[in-house]
Amino acid sequence: MTWDVLVVGGGIAGVSVAAELARDRAVLLVEAEPVLAKHTTGRSAAVYIPSYGSPVVRALTAASYPLFGDGILSPRPMLWVGSATEVAHMDSTEPVSIDDAVGMCSALRADRIEAAAVDNGTMDIDVMGLHQRYVRELRARGGEIRQGAPVTAISRDGAAWRVNLGNEEIAVGTVVNAAGPWADKVAELAGVPALGLRPLRRTIAIAVGKPVDPGWPLVSDVADTFYFRPEGPGVLVSPADETPAEPGDAKPDEVDVALAVERVNHVTTLELRSVRTAWAGLRTFAVDREPVLGALPDHPGFAFVAGQGGYGIQMGPALAVAAARIISGEPAGIDPASVSPARLR
Ligand SMILES: Cc1cc2nc3c(=O)[nH]c(=O)nc-3n(C[C@H](O)[C@H](O)[C@H](O)COP(=O)(O)OP(=O)(O)OC[C@H]3O[C@@H](n4cnc5c(N)ncnc54)[C@H](O)[C@@H]3O)c2cc1C
Repeated sequence: MTWDVLVVGGGIAGVSVAAELARDRAVLLVEAEPVLAKHTTGRSAAVYIPSYGSPVVRALTAASYPLFGDGILSPRPMLWVGSATEVAHMDSTEPVSIDDAVGMCSALRADRIEAAAVDNGTMDIDVMGLHQRYVRELRARGGEIRQGAPVTAISRDGAAWRVNLGNEEIAVGTVVNAAGPWADKVAELAGVPALGLRPLRRTIAIAVGKPVDPGWPLVSDVADTFYFRPEGPGVLVSPADETPAEPGDAKPDEVDVALAVERVNHVTTLELRSVRTAWAGLRTFAVDREPVLGALPDHPGFAFVAGQGGYGIQMGPALAVAAARIISGEPAGIDPASVSPARLR
Protein backbone atom coordinates (compact mmCIF):
# COMPACT_ATOMS: atom_id res chain seq x y z
CA MET A 1 0.00 0.00 0.00
CA THR A 2 1.29 3.48 -0.79
CA TRP A 3 0.10 6.56 1.04
CA ASP A 4 -0.27 10.16 -0.11
CA VAL A 5 -0.30 11.64 3.39
CA LEU A 6 1.19 10.61 6.73
CA VAL A 7 -0.49 12.22 9.77
CA VAL A 8 1.63 12.15 12.95
CA GLY A 9 -0.44 12.05 16.17
CA GLY A 10 -3.70 10.35 17.16
CA GLY A 11 -5.28 13.10 19.29
CA ILE A 12 -8.27 15.12 18.12
CA ALA A 13 -6.14 17.17 15.71
CA GLY A 14 -4.64 14.12 13.99
CA VAL A 15 -7.81 12.05 13.61
CA SER A 16 -9.96 14.98 12.48
CA VAL A 17 -7.60 16.35 9.83
CA ALA A 18 -6.81 12.78 8.68
CA ALA A 19 -10.55 12.10 8.22
CA GLU A 20 -10.93 15.32 6.21
CA LEU A 21 -7.89 14.59 4.00
CA ALA A 22 -9.04 10.98 3.45
CA ARG A 23 -11.99 12.26 1.41
CA ASP A 24 -9.71 12.34 -1.64
CA ARG A 25 -6.29 10.98 -0.59
CA ALA A 26 -4.75 7.80 0.82
CA VAL A 27 -4.02 8.66 4.48
CA LEU A 28 -1.98 6.78 7.09
CA LEU A 29 -2.15 8.06 10.68
CA VAL A 30 0.50 6.99 13.17
CA GLU A 31 0.34 7.34 16.94
CA ALA A 32 3.35 6.72 19.19
CA GLU A 33 1.28 5.38 22.09
CA PRO A 34 -0.45 2.00 22.06
CA VAL A 35 -3.77 3.86 22.50
CA LEU A 36 -5.16 6.96 20.79
CA ALA A 37 -5.98 10.22 22.64
CA LYS A 38 -3.82 9.34 25.67
CA HIS A 39 -2.31 12.82 25.97
CA THR A 40 -3.95 16.28 25.78
CA THR A 41 -7.14 15.12 24.06
CA GLY A 42 -7.94 12.57 26.76
CA ARG A 43 -7.35 15.07 29.57
CA SER A 44 -9.48 18.08 28.66
CA ALA A 45 -12.30 19.70 30.63
CA ALA A 46 -14.58 18.85 27.68
CA VAL A 47 -16.32 22.18 27.31
CA TYR A 48 -17.37 24.33 24.35
CA ILE A 49 -17.21 28.04 25.24
CA PRO A 50 -18.05 30.33 22.29
CA SER A 51 -16.91 33.45 24.17
CA TYR A 52 -13.41 32.03 24.86
CA GLY A 53 -10.19 32.82 22.99
CA SER A 54 -9.04 35.20 20.23
CA PRO A 55 -11.28 36.28 17.32
CA VAL A 56 -9.75 33.52 15.14
CA VAL A 57 -10.41 30.91 17.85
CA ARG A 58 -13.96 32.19 18.32
CA ALA A 59 -14.65 32.10 14.58
CA LEU A 60 -13.41 28.50 14.36
CA THR A 61 -15.40 27.59 17.49
CA ALA A 62 -18.60 29.09 16.03
CA ALA A 63 -17.97 27.40 12.65
CA SER A 64 -17.51 24.07 14.46
CA TYR A 65 -20.93 24.17 16.10
CA PRO A 66 -22.93 22.68 13.20
CA LEU A 67 -20.13 20.17 12.47
CA PHE A 68 -20.21 18.35 15.83
CA GLY A 69 -23.16 16.21 14.75
CA ASP A 70 -25.83 14.61 16.90
CA GLY A 71 -25.23 13.70 20.52
CA ILE A 72 -21.79 15.31 20.98
CA LEU A 73 -22.79 18.65 22.55
CA SER A 74 -25.15 19.10 25.50
CA PRO A 75 -26.05 22.52 26.94
CA ARG A 76 -24.53 23.68 30.21
CA PRO A 77 -24.48 27.46 30.70
CA MET A 78 -21.32 29.11 31.88
CA LEU A 79 -21.33 31.54 34.77
CA TRP A 80 -18.45 34.01 34.87
CA VAL A 81 -17.76 35.60 38.26
CA GLY A 82 -15.36 38.42 39.08
CA SER A 83 -15.04 42.07 39.97
CA ALA A 84 -17.59 44.51 38.55
CA THR A 85 -14.93 45.96 36.22
CA GLU A 86 -13.84 42.54 34.94
CA VAL A 87 -17.40 41.41 34.27
CA ALA A 88 -18.34 44.74 32.61
CA HIS A 89 -15.54 44.21 30.06
CA MET A 90 -16.71 40.75 28.94
CA ASP A 91 -18.35 40.48 25.55
CA SER A 92 -20.75 37.77 24.33
CA THR A 93 -22.18 37.34 27.83
CA GLU A 94 -25.30 38.60 29.67
CA PRO A 95 -24.77 40.28 33.05
CA VAL A 96 -26.83 38.64 35.84
CA SER A 97 -27.51 39.68 39.44
CA ILE A 98 -25.77 37.92 42.32
CA ASP A 99 -29.17 36.48 43.33
CA ASP A 100 -29.62 35.03 39.85
CA ALA A 101 -26.06 33.67 39.92
CA VAL A 102 -26.79 31.89 43.23
CA GLY A 103 -30.08 30.73 41.73
CA MET A 104 -28.09 29.01 38.95
CA CYS A 105 -25.51 27.50 41.34
CA SER A 106 -26.81 27.28 44.91
CA ALA A 107 -23.34 26.47 46.26
CA LEU A 108 -22.04 29.97 45.38
CA ARG A 109 -21.46 32.35 48.32
CA ALA A 110 -23.14 35.68 47.54
CA ASP A 111 -20.78 37.47 49.96
CA ARG A 112 -17.68 36.39 47.97
CA ILE A 113 -18.88 37.41 44.50
CA GLU A 114 -18.97 40.98 43.26
CA ALA A 115 -20.44 40.51 39.78
CA ALA A 116 -21.53 37.75 37.40
CA ALA A 117 -22.41 37.18 33.75
CA VAL A 118 -23.77 34.19 31.89
CA ASP A 119 -22.86 32.64 28.53
CA ASN A 120 -25.82 30.54 27.43
CA GLY A 121 -24.02 29.13 24.38
CA THR A 122 -21.66 26.96 26.45
CA MET A 123 -21.89 23.16 26.08
CA ASP A 124 -20.39 19.98 27.49
CA ILE A 125 -18.56 18.02 24.77
CA ASP A 126 -18.49 14.22 24.48
CA VAL A 127 -14.79 14.34 23.52
CA MET A 128 -14.28 10.62 23.08
CA GLY A 129 -17.53 10.38 21.08
CA LEU A 130 -16.21 13.07 18.73
CA HIS A 131 -12.77 11.45 18.50
CA GLN A 132 -14.29 8.03 17.76
CA ARG A 133 -16.51 9.52 15.06
CA TYR A 134 -13.41 10.83 13.24
CA VAL A 135 -11.68 7.46 13.65
CA ARG A 136 -14.69 5.74 12.04
CA GLU A 137 -14.84 8.32 9.21
CA LEU A 138 -11.12 7.97 8.52
CA ARG A 139 -11.38 4.19 8.26
CA ALA A 140 -14.59 4.36 6.19
CA ARG A 141 -12.72 6.60 3.69
CA GLY A 142 -9.93 4.02 3.34
CA GLY A 143 -7.50 5.54 5.86
CA GLU A 144 -5.38 3.37 8.15
CA ILE A 145 -4.35 3.94 11.76
CA ARG A 146 -1.25 2.44 13.34
CA GLN A 147 -0.89 2.66 17.12
CA GLY A 148 2.36 2.07 19.02
CA ALA A 149 4.10 3.48 15.91
CA PRO A 150 6.35 6.42 16.83
CA VAL A 151 7.88 8.44 14.02
CA THR A 152 11.62 8.33 14.75
CA ALA A 153 13.18 9.97 11.67
CA ILE A 154 12.00 12.01 8.68
CA SER A 155 14.14 12.96 5.70
CA ARG A 156 13.66 14.66 2.33
CA ASP A 157 13.76 12.45 -0.75
CA GLY A 158 13.32 14.73 -3.76
CA ALA A 159 9.73 16.00 -3.64
CA ALA A 160 8.75 13.30 -1.12
CA TRP A 161 9.54 12.41 2.50
CA ARG A 162 11.02 9.20 3.91
CA VAL A 163 9.64 8.48 7.35
CA ASN A 164 10.93 5.90 9.83
CA LEU A 165 8.37 4.13 12.00
CA GLY A 166 10.60 1.95 14.18
CA ASN A 167 11.73 -0.84 11.84
CA GLU A 168 9.73 0.28 8.84
CA GLU A 169 10.39 3.12 6.38
CA ILE A 170 7.68 4.63 4.21
CA ALA A 171 7.65 7.32 1.50
CA VAL A 172 4.91 9.97 1.38
CA GLY A 173 4.32 13.24 -0.44
CA THR A 174 2.90 15.09 2.57
CA VAL A 175 3.62 14.86 6.30
CA VAL A 176 1.03 16.41 8.65
CA ASN A 177 2.45 17.26 12.05
CA ALA A 178 -0.42 16.92 14.55
CA ALA A 179 1.85 15.89 17.43
CA GLY A 180 0.40 18.32 20.01
CA PRO A 181 3.05 19.13 22.64
CA TRP A 182 5.66 17.29 20.53
CA ALA A 183 4.99 19.31 17.34
CA ASP A 184 8.30 21.20 17.48
CA LYS A 185 10.20 17.94 18.16
CA VAL A 186 8.59 16.27 15.14
CA ALA A 187 9.46 19.33 12.99
CA GLU A 188 13.09 19.09 14.08
CA LEU A 189 13.14 15.38 13.11
CA ALA A 190 12.33 16.55 9.56
CA GLY A 191 14.89 19.36 9.55
CA VAL A 192 12.02 21.87 9.69
CA PRO A 193 12.60 24.80 12.08
CA ALA A 194 10.85 24.65 15.45
CA LEU A 195 8.21 27.38 15.91
CA GLY A 196 8.65 28.07 19.62
CA LEU A 197 5.46 26.19 20.53
CA ARG A 198 5.07 26.13 24.32
CA PRO A 199 3.41 23.25 26.20
CA LEU A 200 1.78 24.65 29.38
CA ARG A 201 0.60 22.23 32.05
CA ARG A 202 -2.98 22.48 33.29
CA THR A 203 -4.38 20.51 36.23
CA ILE A 204 -7.83 19.06 36.86
CA ALA A 205 -9.12 17.24 39.96
CA ILE A 206 -12.42 15.62 40.88
CA ALA A 207 -13.18 16.59 44.47
CA VAL A 208 -16.05 15.68 46.77
CA GLY A 209 -17.72 17.68 49.55
CA LYS A 210 -21.32 18.79 50.15
CA PRO A 211 -23.99 17.46 47.71
CA VAL A 212 -23.85 18.65 44.12
CA ASP A 213 -26.67 19.47 41.69
CA PRO A 214 -25.86 18.03 38.24
CA GLY A 215 -27.70 20.95 36.65
CA TRP A 216 -25.27 23.60 37.91
CA PRO A 217 -23.46 25.65 35.28
CA LEU A 218 -19.74 25.69 34.61
CA VAL A 219 -18.46 28.43 36.92
CA SER A 220 -15.23 30.30 36.13
CA ASP A 221 -13.69 33.48 37.39
CA VAL A 222 -12.95 36.11 34.77
CA ALA A 223 -9.35 36.45 35.99
CA ASP A 224 -8.83 32.76 35.04
CA THR A 225 -7.71 31.47 38.45
CA PHE A 226 -10.26 28.62 38.81
CA TYR A 227 -13.24 26.90 37.25
CA PHE A 228 -15.56 24.13 38.40
CA ARG A 229 -18.57 22.15 37.24
CA PRO A 230 -20.52 19.15 38.54
CA GLU A 231 -18.99 15.76 37.76
CA GLY A 232 -20.86 12.72 39.14
CA PRO A 233 -21.16 13.01 42.93
CA GLY A 234 -18.43 15.67 43.06
CA VAL A 235 -17.11 18.63 41.12
CA LEU A 236 -14.41 18.95 38.48
CA VAL A 237 -12.07 21.74 39.61
CA SER A 238 -9.06 23.42 38.02
CA PRO A 239 -6.77 26.22 39.18
CA ALA A 240 -6.51 27.23 35.49
CA ASP A 241 -2.72 26.83 35.82
CA GLU A 242 -0.28 27.39 32.95
CA THR A 243 3.10 25.98 33.99
CA PRO A 244 5.73 25.67 31.23
CA ALA A 245 6.62 22.01 30.70
CA GLU A 246 8.56 19.71 28.40
CA PRO A 247 6.52 17.48 26.06
CA GLY A 248 5.72 14.27 27.94
CA ASP A 249 3.25 12.42 30.15
CA ALA A 250 2.17 15.36 32.35
CA LYS A 251 1.50 14.63 36.03
CA PRO A 252 -0.51 16.81 38.43
CA ASP A 253 1.40 18.71 41.10
CA GLU A 254 -0.32 18.41 44.48
CA VAL A 255 0.16 22.15 45.08
CA ASP A 256 -1.95 22.90 41.98
CA VAL A 257 -4.63 20.44 43.10
CA ALA A 258 -4.73 22.07 46.56
CA LEU A 259 -4.97 25.54 44.97
CA ALA A 260 -7.95 24.50 42.87
CA VAL A 261 -9.78 23.09 45.91
CA GLU A 262 -8.95 26.15 48.02
CA ARG A 263 -10.12 28.66 45.38
CA VAL A 264 -13.39 26.81 44.75
CA ASN A 265 -14.01 26.42 48.50
CA HIS A 266 -13.46 30.17 48.91
CA VAL A 267 -16.40 31.10 46.65
CA THR A 268 -18.72 28.19 47.52
CA THR A 269 -20.26 26.31 50.44
CA LEU A 270 -19.08 23.00 48.93
CA GLU A 271 -16.45 22.30 51.63
CA LEU A 272 -14.47 20.10 49.25
CA ARG A 273 -12.14 17.84 51.22
CA SER A 274 -11.55 14.60 49.45
CA VAL A 275 -9.86 14.50 46.02
CA ARG A 276 -11.00 11.36 44.16
CA THR A 277 -8.65 11.72 41.21
CA ALA A 278 -6.44 14.33 39.57
CA TRP A 279 -4.66 14.63 36.25
CA ALA A 280 -2.73 17.16 34.17
CA GLY A 281 -2.33 17.77 30.46
CA LEU A 282 -0.28 20.04 28.22
CA ARG A 283 -2.04 22.86 26.39
CA THR A 284 0.35 23.91 23.63
CA PHE A 285 0.43 27.51 22.42
CA ALA A 286 2.20 29.54 19.77
CA VAL A 287 3.54 32.83 21.12
CA ASP A 288 0.46 34.71 19.81
CA ARG A 289 -1.94 31.96 21.02
CA GLU A 290 -3.37 31.42 17.53
CA PRO A 291 -3.44 27.96 15.91
CA VAL A 292 -0.73 26.98 13.43
CA LEU A 293 -1.95 25.49 10.15
CA GLY A 294 0.03 24.69 7.01
CA ALA A 295 3.65 24.56 5.86
CA LEU A 296 6.55 26.98 5.97
CA PRO A 297 7.14 28.32 2.42
CA ASP A 298 10.66 26.84 2.26
CA HIS A 299 9.53 23.46 3.63
CA PRO A 300 6.59 22.48 1.40
CA GLY A 301 4.86 19.18 2.07
CA PHE A 302 5.42 19.36 5.83
CA ALA A 303 2.25 20.89 7.35
CA PHE A 304 1.67 21.84 10.97
CA VAL A 305 -1.74 21.33 12.59
CA ALA A 306 -0.63 22.52 16.00
CA GLY A 307 -0.85 25.18 18.71
CA GLN A 308 -4.51 24.54 19.57
CA GLY A 309 -3.90 25.60 23.19
CA GLY A 310 -7.01 25.30 25.34
CA TYR A 311 -9.47 25.24 22.44
CA GLY A 312 -8.49 22.18 20.38
CA ILE A 313 -11.73 20.31 21.00
CA GLN A 314 -14.21 23.18 20.76
CA MET A 315 -12.73 24.49 17.49
CA GLY A 316 -11.63 21.00 16.32
CA PRO A 317 -14.21 20.28 13.59
CA ALA A 318 -13.79 23.60 11.72
CA LEU A 319 -10.03 23.61 12.34
CA ALA A 320 -9.78 20.21 10.61
CA VAL A 321 -11.70 21.47 7.56
CA ALA A 322 -9.58 24.65 7.38
CA ALA A 323 -6.33 22.69 7.82
CA ALA A 324 -7.26 20.18 5.10
CA ARG A 325 -8.05 23.04 2.70
CA ILE A 326 -4.82 24.89 3.47
CA ILE A 327 -2.85 21.65 2.98
CA SER A 328 -4.66 21.14 -0.35
CA GLY A 329 -3.97 24.75 -1.44
CA GLU A 330 -7.67 25.69 -1.35
CA PRO A 331 -9.38 28.75 0.23
CA ALA A 332 -9.90 27.94 3.90
CA GLY A 333 -12.46 30.54 4.92
CA ILE A 334 -10.00 32.14 7.34
CA ASP A 335 -7.11 34.49 6.69
CA PRO A 336 -4.25 32.02 6.00
CA ALA A 337 -1.66 34.56 7.24
CA SER A 338 -3.21 34.60 10.74
CA VAL A 339 -2.60 30.87 11.17
CA SER A 340 0.45 30.33 8.93
CA PRO A 341 3.62 29.02 10.60
CA ALA A 342 5.50 31.72 8.63
CA ARG A 343 4.25 34.38 11.10
CA LEU A 344 6.28 32.68 13.84
CA ARG A 345 9.63 32.79 12.00
C1 LIG B 1 -6.61 20.25 31.51
C2 LIG B 1 -7.02 20.61 30.11
C3 LIG B 1 -8.29 21.10 29.86
C4 LIG B 1 -8.70 21.40 28.57
N1 LIG B 1 -9.99 21.76 28.37
C5 LIG B 1 -10.43 22.00 27.10
C6 LIG B 1 -11.80 22.28 26.87
O1 LIG B 1 -12.61 22.28 27.79
N2 LIG B 1 -12.18 22.53 25.58
C7 LIG B 1 -11.29 22.49 24.54
O2 LIG B 1 -11.68 22.75 23.40
N3 LIG B 1 -9.99 22.20 24.74
C8 LIG B 1 -9.54 21.93 25.99
N4 LIG B 1 -8.24 21.62 26.20
C9 LIG B 1 -7.31 21.66 25.07
C10 LIG B 1 -7.44 20.42 24.17
O3 LIG B 1 -7.47 19.27 24.97
C11 LIG B 1 -6.24 20.42 23.19
O4 LIG B 1 -6.23 21.63 22.44
C12 LIG B 1 -6.34 19.25 22.20
O5 LIG B 1 -6.61 18.04 22.86
C13 LIG B 1 -5.02 19.11 21.43
O6 LIG B 1 -5.12 17.96 20.64
P1 LIG B 1 -3.88 17.43 19.80
O7 LIG B 1 -4.40 16.31 18.97
O8 LIG B 1 -3.20 18.57 19.15
O9 LIG B 1 -2.82 16.90 20.90
P2 LIG B 1 -2.69 15.47 21.66
O10 LIG B 1 -4.03 14.98 22.10
O11 LIG B 1 -1.66 15.65 22.70
O12 LIG B 1 -2.19 14.52 20.52
C14 LIG B 1 -0.86 14.53 20.02
C15 LIG B 1 -0.46 13.08 19.81
O13 LIG B 1 0.77 13.03 19.06
C16 LIG B 1 1.43 11.86 19.47
N5 LIG B 1 2.85 11.94 19.07
C17 LIG B 1 3.79 12.80 19.53
N6 LIG B 1 4.99 12.55 18.96
C18 LIG B 1 4.79 11.51 18.08
C19 LIG B 1 5.66 10.79 17.19
N7 LIG B 1 6.96 11.09 17.06
N8 LIG B 1 5.12 9.77 16.47
C20 LIG B 1 3.80 9.47 16.57
N9 LIG B 1 2.95 10.11 17.42
C21 LIG B 1 3.43 11.13 18.16
C22 LIG B 1 1.25 11.87 20.99
O14 LIG B 1 1.46 10.59 21.55
C23 LIG B 1 -0.18 12.35 21.11
O15 LIG B 1 -1.11 11.27 21.23
C24 LIG B 1 -7.80 21.27 27.48
C25 LIG B 1 -6.52 20.78 27.73
C26 LIG B 1 -6.13 20.43 29.03
C27 LIG B 1 -4.77 19.86 29.24
